Amino acid sequence: MKDYKSYSFWLETCGDDLTPRAPLDGSIDVDVAILGAGYTGLWTAYYLLAKNPSLKIAIVEKEIAGFGASGRNGSWCTAHFPTSLGMIAEHHGREQAVALYRAMAASVDEVERAAKAENIDIHFMRGGSMTVARGPQQLPSVQAGYEEFAGLGLGDRVALLSKGQADARVKIEGVRGAVFYKDAANIHPGRLVRGLARAVEKKGAKIYEQTPVTDFSTGSKPALHTPCGDVRAKTLVLAGEAYLSQLPKTRRVLIPVYSLMTLTEPLSASDWAQIGWNNRECVDSCRLTIEYMAKTGDGRILFGGRGAPYHFGSRIEDEYDRHAPTIAMFQDSVRHWFPMLKDVRFTHAWGGPLGAPRDFMPTMMFDPGQGVASARGYVGNGVATTNLAGRVLSDLILGKQSEITRLPCVNHRSPNWEIEPFRYIGVHFIQNAFWNLDLKAERTGIAPSGKSIAERLTRH
Ligand SMILES: Cc1cc2nc3c(=O)[nH]c(=O)nc-3n(C[C@H](O)[C@H](O)[C@H](O)COP(=O)(O)OP(=O)(O)OC[C@H]3O[C@@H](n4cnc5c(N)ncnc54)[C@H](O)[C@@H]3O)c2cc1C
Repeated sequence: MKDYKSYSFWLETCGDDLTPRAPLDGSIDVDVAILGAGYTGLWTAYYLLAKNPSLKIAIVEKEIAGFGASGRNGSWCTAHFPTSLGMIAEHHGREQAVALYRAMAASVDEVERAAKAENIDIHFMRGGSMTVARGPQQLPSVQAGYEEFAGLGLGDRVALLSKGQADARVKIEGVRGAVFYKDAANIHPGRLVRGLARAVEKKGAKIYEQTPVTDFSTGSKPALHTPCGDVRAKTLVLAGEAYLSQLPKTRRVLIPVYSLMTLTEPLSASDWAQIGWNNRECVDSCRLTIEYMAKTGDGRILFGGRGAPYHFGSRIEDEYDRHAPTIAMFQDSVRHWFPMLKDVRFTHAWGGPLGAPRDFMPTMMFDPGQGVASARGYVGNGVATTNLAGRVLSDLILGKQSEITRLPCVNHRSPNWEIEPFRYIGVHFIQNAFWNLDLKAERTGIAPSGKSIAERLTRH
């Protein structure tokens, strides 16, 4: 039996003993069969049952509820959609961009409301998020982030912060200014996913753990196939995010991109007196290679980012969660960002794969003819987005038209990723290029132009 507590600080401290629920024991018939007990699968079940309590729902999970990104993430619950509002406006118009933003902000509120309603203490702290410019090379990005919102009439949701104003929130070495986003909260991800699993069970859904789906059938006889039997249903929901890349029929819809993080010991009162961070704002920088931070409810600093390698053939292995050079780099970063913490102890390090579609645009889709729904491709912005996805999928499956079923991500189809070895070569090229662009920007103090091949290929 795996030691599930060892997969993240969040699973370790969620308060559950993590003993797996019983696996599927023979074939069954249900109304809705859901692959995956992460936020997407659980929110979908939650809203389906809220709207139609008589539905028979089975959730089939290869490990335990919360094993995936939902039990391991960086704890940001924000209105940031994976695709930028500027890109949405460019492709779908300003109104759609604003509608999507408002739906995302409402999702942050809804996570708070639903958790309260279900008595799940997720340590919700609505402190906003702050993108800091660490050095002059990052100031244009901060300015652009503000202007994107202001240009869409969302100026009341953001604020440009001077160095002094940013320092007053969180004292970080080398910050020149920041953009502050109001619609963001910090949460305990493990408590959310484990609490949600219990909430949907109470409403009547059945969760089968330790039950890997090996394939699925759509069309006249939709079913999830597992070594323990088939789950036949009117509708399937594929909610496996990055892990969908491991199934033959969805191998190229996403790639698993590793995000890793490290966690300090709880800091002393005198450390916090120097740093501030009283509102537990989510904090990131403008690096292309992505670095993000959070302050946990028990007073630790979480520092994470991308940069761990992509593995040939979209392979996912437990050992990739702890790529030592990447973790060491983040620990160095903590010491650079907070020089007073030069002797701080790091107690945890973990990570996991997030799902990236070829165009970085998530989808929330339902094909009634084939009897299959799916929501996926959140590229590291899935905590609030999965709540929106659960509400969208439940409306689509129940045949209900609503404001959120008209959003641009609904029934969006991303192109497939390239076959190997082109995928591997392409992803490594982008990762290396981003790394070099960041280093050059830090050396010269000049922002990347946005015109390099890597930046143009990944614009989203
Ligand atoms: C390290 C990391 C940090 C992140 N940080 C943030 C953040 O701070 N803020 C934010 O908004 N987003 C963040 N994200 C993204 C966010 O966590 C995810 O988008 C979100 O949790 C996705 O939820 P999900 O339910 O779709 O997928 P998952 O939580 O990955 O759930 C999928 C589930 O399906 C199961 N499964 C997969 N394949 C099968 C199969 N064949 N048979 C049965 N079961 C299967 C898995 O075991 C898993 O439990 C982060 C992601 C990672 C990996």
